[in-house]
Amino acid sequence: MLPIQDALPLLKDPARIFITTHHKPDGDAIGSMLGLYHYLKGKGHFVTAVSPSEVPEFLMWMPGANGLINYESDADAAKKALANADLVFCLDFNDLNRTKHLELPLAEATQPRILIDHHLFPKDVWTYGMSIPAKSSTCEMVYDFINLSGDNALIDKNIAACLYVGVMTDTGSFKFPATTASVHRMIADLMERGINHTAIHEDVYDAWSESRMRFLGYVLIERMQVFRKYNSALITLSRKDMNLFNVQNGDTEGLVNYPLSIAGIKFATLITERSDEVKLSFRSKGPFDVSKVARLYFDGGGHFNASGGRAKTSFDETIVYFKKILSDIHPK
Ligand code: 5GP
Ligand code: MN
Repeated sequence: MLPIQDALPLLKDPARIFITTHHKPDGDAIGSMLGLYHYLKGKGHFVTAVSPSEVPEFLMWMPGANGLINYESDADAAKKALANADLVFCLDFNDLNRTKHLELPLAEATQPRILIDHHLFPKDVWTYGMSIPAKSSTCEMVYDFINLSGDNALIDKNIAACLYVGVMTDTGSFKFPATTASVHRMIADLMERGINHTAIHEDVYDAWSESRMRFLGYVLIERMQVFRKYNSALITLSRKDMNLFNVQNGDTEGLVNYPLSIAGIKFATLITERSDEVKLSFRSKGPFDVSKVARLYFDGGGHFNASGGRAKTSFDETIVYFKKILSDIHPK
């Protein structure tokens, strides 16, 4: 992978650009994609941004969210844009399999691929890019990319709002260790573009439905197990649980973090029964590497303190398997 600086000449003249991110996009995925989208459009490029799956409701207020193509509902438009593109940007993932149904079209595309991402262990399938696991978020890296291009002055209120969302959501509202002094300097710069940070926090975090709030109460009482001697906790969500509360796309976002607010709990796992697979999410506090857990046991990966994976076994079998390995892998 060549340094991203080497790709800048490709952006000297108006180009047709395809931007995408990972399946089940989160705040950083959509924020980085839309931030880059507005920036490149402002520079005179022809840009199409494609999400591999539906954008969660809590992000639909974001500037440009309505113009995103959802690959799951409009694959033809997405494929056409990809076929016509001169360049492909891949944001907030580092393995093509994270784009699910888009994996094959992306793998077959012959245009230069540019990576901007902060996950560990990137696959070697990019022409240009930057891969920096120490970065707080892909949004921070899009900000760096805009500055690298000498375009700080082009960051307007829309771009600033999009980038703010990704940094805010990926840092647990500026709490996690990757929230460096330079992240705070960047946030100060974004705030000077006129964003309303209070409104952004409310739009993302305080827009729950009543049933989502009651679902959280139910989950914490009925579906959270605490393993004191392992400094760990596990939440399990079956399809039945989710049907009971009419759980919507995005409603399980953040659930995995709650057990980490219990004193002494350093490792939290969420096991979710999906229609086509069993999904696992891992979070930790301190020196326990959950990306390793995801990689070694659950065909996944991610960051040191936040990772995910999947199992092909049934929901119940996966829970039994997880509890079995927990006795070996738990934080001390
Ligand atoms: P989440 O638990 O929110 O789905 O994911 C947490 C982190 O782990 C995210 O940064 C996400 O990109 C990464 N991650 C989640 N699932 C997978 C997976 O199946 N494979 C890999 N490589 N990373 C994942
Ligand atoms: Mn991210």
